[in-house]
Amino acid sequence: MTLAPNVYDAEPIPEAARAEIDRMLQSGDLFRYTAPENAPVTLLEREFAEVMGSRYALAASSCSAVLFLSLKALGLKSGARVLIPAFTFAAVPSSVVHADCVPVLCEVGENYRIDIDDFATRLEDRIDAVIVSHMRGHTSDMDAIMALCAARGIPVIEDAAHSLGTTWAGRKIGTIGRVGCFSFQSYKLVNAGEGGIMITDDPDLVARAVIMSGAYEHNWAKHMTEDDAALKAAFAHWQNKLPLYNLRMGNLSAAIIRPQLGEVARRVRDGRANHDYVAARLNTSPWLQVPNKLPREERAPDSIQFNLVGLSDDDTNAFAEAAAARGIKVQVFGMSTDNARAFWNWGFLPEAPGDLPRTRAMLMRACDVRLPARLTRDELDFVAEALTRAAGDVMGEARAYGT
Ligand SMILES: *Cc1c(COP(=O)(O)O)cnc(C)c1O
Repeated sequence: MTLAPNVYDAEPIPEAARAEIDRMLQSGDLFRYTAPENAPVTLLEREFAEVMGSRYALAASSCSAVLFLSLKALGLKSGARVLIPAFTFAAVPSSVVHADCVPVLCEVGENYRIDIDDFATRLEDRIDAVIVSHMRGHTSDMDAIMALCAARGIPVIEDAAHSLGTTWAGRKIGTIGRVGCFSFQSYKLVNAGEGGIMITDDPDLVARAVIMSGAYEHNWAKHMTEDDAALKAAFAHWQNKLPLYNLRMGNLSAAIIRPQLGEVARRVRDGRANHDYVAARLNTSPWLQVPNKLPREERAPDSIQFNLVGLSDDDTNAFAEAAAARGIKVQVFGMSTDNARAFWNWGFLPEAPGDLPRTRAMLMRACDVRLPARLTRDELDFVAEALTRAAGDVMGEARAYGT
């Protein structure tokens, strides 16, 4: 019999990281600006930009840090209003508050994606910038969002923290907005414990972000790879004019991340196959429903989300207990008092988010289960079996409709 899989442990870090870390332990060369050139953080930025097909990349201490730097680099004034989806991680509105801006929330539908009608309505409410949070790697309709924002000249930041490897209409997520931000925190596709990176094609924006990330004095010169007149002019212009927030990444993190970039394609392929296999099994239960992806989206999941259908609050709690008894921990986003993905727990918001009934209803029945790419078929069967049977424990075994 297969035991309940451990869905929390990350994969081992590739062996190649070890030699590089050993070298650093010998030399003590841990700061990105000590070496005259080719520091591990600089190499990571180059490699990541190349993989994504972007002009520039800036690594930092977290995705929250690069979201914050993106907002500051856009030059948003104090009190600027930033539209974000109401279904996201608390770090996103927090980065907006950190940048001295005001988060404005829009509705998210039961497929976990931005409700475009509500987004369009709220965009009229003095919005200065948008953060599209691709929560749990679910991509909202980027064609509609980009068209609405372009028509009003509103910049779009993509929070692709959990979307490395996802594409929309063949384009890499994170390259569609003005800036794309990714996380290397341990629960994301590439694990450095902590870390983040932003990508953009905009030389002025990246120059501002580089300086504010902590490239004091002439350290910005170490971000120049070739003769880039526009970037050089931007650095010269912003020198000494911006605060230094010191959100840099250290060389040890970069050494752990770089050899994992070669693992991304496999993790995406296996994660997608695992997800789709379990999704098909969950959808055989009348009580469980995995929403379809949008047609233009190719996903890179490392977890699965599904909705409980026809269950009351009590049934929902009973389902989570039954699943736990069968060895699988299910988180219902809206059902705990402190879940950081439930907007009503964001007591730090400067402006009350108002009523968001669609998002609230979704969060009360939406379940979250981790499903890392390394799971075996037997382990996936264990997860699917535990979840469908837990629903049966609470609601009765599935019967064919219409008979
Ligand atoms: C993890 C995550 C973040 C925050 O990333 P950190 O690197 O931990 O700051 C932001 N947004 C989403 C959607 C995330 O999943």
